[in-house]
Amino acid sequence: MFSRIIKIPIIFEVKKKAFKELDSILKANHLSYEEKILFTSQELFDLYKTYIPVETFSDVIFIKGGNVEEVESVKSKYEHHNVLLIAFGGGSIIDFVKLYSRELCLQYISVPSSLSNDAIYSPIARLTKNGKKESFGVLEPLGIIADIEIIQKSPLKMLLAGVGDLVSNLSAIKDWYLAESYDSEVLDIFSVSLSIVTAKAIFAYTREQLRSEEFVEVLTYGLVLSGLSMIIANSSRPASGAEHLMSHAIDELFPDRATLHGIQVAWAMLYIEKNIRKNDDAYESLLCFFEKIGLYAEIENDIQFSETELKRIIAKAKIMRKRFTVLNII
Ligand SMILES: [Zn+2]
Repeated sequence: MFSRIIKIPIIFEVKKKAFKELDSILKANHLSYEEKILFTSQELFDLYKTYIPVETFSDVIFIKGGNVEEVESVKSKYEHHNVLLIAFGGGSIIDFVKLYSRELCLQYISVPSSLSNDAIYSPIARLTKNGKKESFGVLEPLGIIADIEIIQKSPLKMLLAGVGDLVSNLSAIKDWYLAESYDSEVLDIFSVSLSIVTAKAIFAYTREQLRSEEFVEVLTYGLVLSGLSMIIANSSRPASGAEHLMSHAIDELFPDRATLHGIQVAWAMLYIEKNIRKNDDAYESLLCFFEKIGLYAEIENDIQFSETELKRIIAKAKIMRKRFTVLNII
């Protein structure tokens, strides 16, 4: 019998006070390390001190996150291999630890402080190098520990950005189908189904439920399974299409006006449905959901581009990377 082997994290915990239980979670999974090092920011450490198992760490390293030069500056610190890294923070801190762990061949656990994108489990890290954002292929984490109480306290805007990043899977999958028919790209239906189902699950929720335990659980599952769809595909294809290219183009062309990744991809997805795919039904249902959950207000508040700027964004998005999307057929 032939089958494919998929590597998944050993640990996946989503519950209240999960971070405090780090040691018992490791023990239950028969894992032990000489040292555990916490990477986080000073602000998050101060804010969530009571939720962090401070006594278990042999060192706490405060970082800003999100840039390669900072990874280089702390690189030589832990070169022996019986060390477990814990990344506690948002996308920039987790992406920092992903790259750091790749450079030193160390294992890491993601502990998200918010859910603004699928960085918690995606095999990609986006960091700034010489002032420009770049994507790096990285190893998947040993585990993901999502403490619901911590995530419930994160800003609503972060949760909404997470919703945007998850829902953008639907646009990415449309592009994958286009790439299959126009460019003979091979589609992975396991990956496609996981990506679509996780994105659609979030449409059931409203703004009033954003801090509920159930919503946080579903968003965490969605973003992690979205990461799994990328691991299965061995590519970011199922979660990154033209809307991601447009978001990356904004980061590059208008860095001072860039906002959260999840909000940018949600905006780009709306733009694409209305103006490029010209799919009125998809646009209306998306707009209706974004309004219901409060994401549209964030988009309106953060993103305004003139027609000329939009042309530049689309032209740049087309050449951002070699990926066939709807932008290739306009
Ligand atoms: Zn994304």
